[in-house]
Amino acid sequence: MAEQAGNLTFGIIKPDAVRAGKTGAILQRITDAGFKLRALKLIHMTKPEAEGFYAVHRERPFFPDLTAFMSSAPCVVMALEKENAVKSWRDLMGATDPAKADEGTLRKEFATSIGENAVHGSDSEENAAAELAYFFSRLEFV
Ligand code: GDP
Repeated sequence: MAEQAGNLTFGIIKPDAVRAGKTGAILQRITDAGFKLRALKLIHMTKPEAEGFYAVHRERPFFPDLTAFMSSAPCVVMALEKENAVKSWRDLMGATDPAKADEGTLRKEFATSIGENAVHGSDSEENAAAELAYFFSRLEFV
């Protein structure tokens, strides 16, 4: 996979969007935007698993709320393939705060607040590789 690292990123359809029945609509938007799904599964994170995933944010005031939210219900984790995948996926997601997200972005359409903002995407190739490895084994990639 190393030779394709630049074309792969990691995404999550967060618990708010899954709970609201938006999984199918978001997956359609992802494939319509030209991403190929290389790995996909529904998981329900424990609080420690969410804390491990967001460890970089552990000193932030919203860390307890964020990890409680992310472990509150199932979410969908994904490996997404496209040229320039990290930036392409973050462009499709939109700004963290849906009030600031551009028209046509997933957060504009599906997010309800800065905390419950429908989707996650890695912010660098390095983090994408680490986050993919956190959730997927080699055999889960197609
Ligand atoms: P992202 O890369 O756009 O997801 O944003 P960040 O890396 O800055 O934050 C990670 C996640 O923490 C966001 O997607 C939100 O779910 C949550 N978050 C960020 N800022 C806030 C905040 O001010 N309040 C709350 N409750 N959650 C936040």
